[in-house]
Amino acid sequence: MQIKVVTSKEMEIRRVLNTLKDTLFFDKNGYTPKLPSNPAFEVLKQHARQKRLTAEEFKIAEIITGEAYDSQKEKYDNTCKKVEEYTEEVWRLFKSLPLREYEGWGFKVFPEYIIVPTLYGIGGSYNHEKGMVFTQLTEDPERNRSRTLHEMVHVGIEEAVVKKYNLDQNTKEYIVDRFMIDHFGDIFPHYQEQKSTMRAEPRVRALLQQQGKPKFDWRNIDREMWGVYRSPVPYPGPALQKGPEPQ
Ligand SMILES: [Zn+2]
Repeated sequence: MQIKVVTSKEMEIRRVLNTLKDTLFFDKNGYTPKLPSNPAFEVLKQHARQKRLTAEEFKIAEIITGEAYDSQKEKYDNTCKKVEEYTEEVWRLFKSLPLREYEGWGFKVFPEYIIVPTLYGIGGSYNHEKGMVFTQLTEDPERNRSRTLHEMVHVGIEEAVVKKYNLDQNTKEYIVDRFMIDHFGDIFPHYQEQKSTMRAEPRVRALLQQQGKPKFDWRNIDREMWGVYRSPVPYPGPALQKGPEPQ
């Protein structure tokens, strides 16, 4: 098995502190991340928005989260078990992708992935440098599986596509959602594009869902994105700035 499931108090504290720090980003992008249920967090969030969180306040958040973790240890253990029940299936699905071909355009594959079940933050997130996936469990087994894969796809495309073309949040999510639907639409029939992806870059939307084509050919993603973002030839809108040659 190349997926490990791990949880720890330290990681959960870091997650809560990072979530708190990013309050403005989450506000701006329409997310409502979970934080430990303690009224102190309302004040801390307000201070985070005003960018005036103090070291002492971070310490308070750390203590509250540590206590919340200890008092819910059983819940964490159970969540880990539930995630472990589906990691083999997720790994099998992930390995069913034409990864060799996709590595050609830079899709990043880690020899091992670490899944961190969490009770806080947004539903799912990732660390593309470490091959880590953070996930909150839902009551819906299909959703839990697809969410983990969704985050593994984020890890895969972060450098090669998202950073390379400096994509905004909505466009990034749109690409991951289309990738999921094109590859795993049959496995996860209820998987849908997130609403926010309606605001993704229209040229990328046009690219990935071309009329008359059932699926996008993901082997060509880098070439096509280059056409959208860097080509001196209009594609299909006004001329774009010329950037460096593709790596
Ligand atoms: Zn996502």
